[in-house]
Amino acid sequence: MQFIDLQKQYKILKSEIDAGIQGVMDRTDFIMGKEVTLLEEQLADYVGMKHCITCGNGTDALLLALLSYDIKQGDAVFVPTFTFFATAEMVSRCGATPIFIDIDCNTFNLSATDLECGIKEILKEGKLRPRAIVAVDLFGLPADYNKIRKVAEEYNLLIIEDGAQGFGGSINGQKACSFGDIATTSFFPAKPLGCYGDGGAVFTNEEKVSDYIKSLRVHGKDTDKYDNVRIGMNSRLDTIQAAILLVKLKAFRKFELESRNNVANIYNEKLSGFTQIPYCPEEYTSSYAQYSILLKEEAERDLVQKTLGINGIPTMIYYKKSLHQQIVYRNNDSIYRGFPNAERITKTILNLPIHPYLSEDQIIKCTNIIKSTLEEI
Ligand SMILES: *Cc1c(COP(=O)(O)O)cnc(C)c1O
Repeated sequence: MQFIDLQKQYKILKSEIDAGIQGVMDRTDFIMGKEVTLLEEQLADYVGMKHCITCGNGTDALLLALLSYDIKQGDAVFVPTFTFFATAEMVSRCGATPIFIDIDCNTFNLSATDLECGIKEILKEGKLRPRAIVAVDLFGLPADYNKIRKVAEEYNLLIIEDGAQGFGGSINGQKACSFGDIATTSFFPAKPLGCYGDGGAVFTNEEKVSDYIKSLRVHGKDTDKYDNVRIGMNSRLDTIQAAILLVKLKAFRKFELESRNNVANIYNEKLSGFTQIPYCPEEYTSSYAQYSILLKEEAERDLVQKTLGINGIPTMIYYKKSLHQQIVYRNNDSIYRGFPNAERITKTILNLPIHPYLSEDQIIKCTNIIKSTLEEI
């Protein structure tokens, strides 16, 4: 069993993917070929934002989003502490200070209540200027944008949506990557929509911001590529990756997203009552970038993981450490406050295999082992 079965997916989509790659090889327009523009149009249309700007990876997408709003030294950017490192890393990269915030114990997403406390503390301390919130759609579930938006409006903060894992999720039919003032995603192979290497994208409704990011991603170019009007970077999506993503996006829309949800539903049905299953509020749909369960304590989690491993079922722990526990952030200026939810969840979470091609038999094999292990404890 694979944690994410990219080989099976490739077998099923092979003829179309190979044809897409071959087309680029025949034309040799490896940089900014026509597939890139076509993909950007389709992605913008899918998420419901006016502009999509693809780039080198999801980390660069975050940096481009932060730079496009001139986030810099002296700025406080509020970030959930339970996320992939890049969410905070790029805040630090542009000179600003990430302020870590605890998560909601049910959704694992940014807690709006803790967010407001954090903002108030920073204002009271008076050293940093609150500027933005990075809301992460963790494991495929959109963050609580209704509440986060209210807080953002009250304190006049920008919302950056880190939709690296959220692509395909929705709230009341509105798609992830359209909730932030600006949103980003990643096409790293293991994400819900992944390419065959690194890739990412930024989404915005503002034409000015879109133009600015298009300039930043090619060395701060003007309309002419060799007129440089600002300091930018080199962060483009390869044409080959765009060609692959066009095929994968079609499959994602047609059946993969639905199939991921079917897998999650079977897991839920088999595990409910035995262990804590993912919480998906009404009105929300998740793209199930991950399927995670919570065990009662660390020893129980480790035993379940070990037993699954012995039986050939790969699992992961996302995340073993919260960001405030990372060595690089040990001297973070963020005023210390407790992170009880994140700290408990890092000790008890376990991520099970999930992908659109996981069979019911495979799921049941996994859930039976979990149940029998729990019964023996
Ligand atoms: C994967 C991920 C990123 C970074 O994307 P890359 O394409 O790997 O650079 C950023 N934020 C979150 C939440 C992620 O899961």
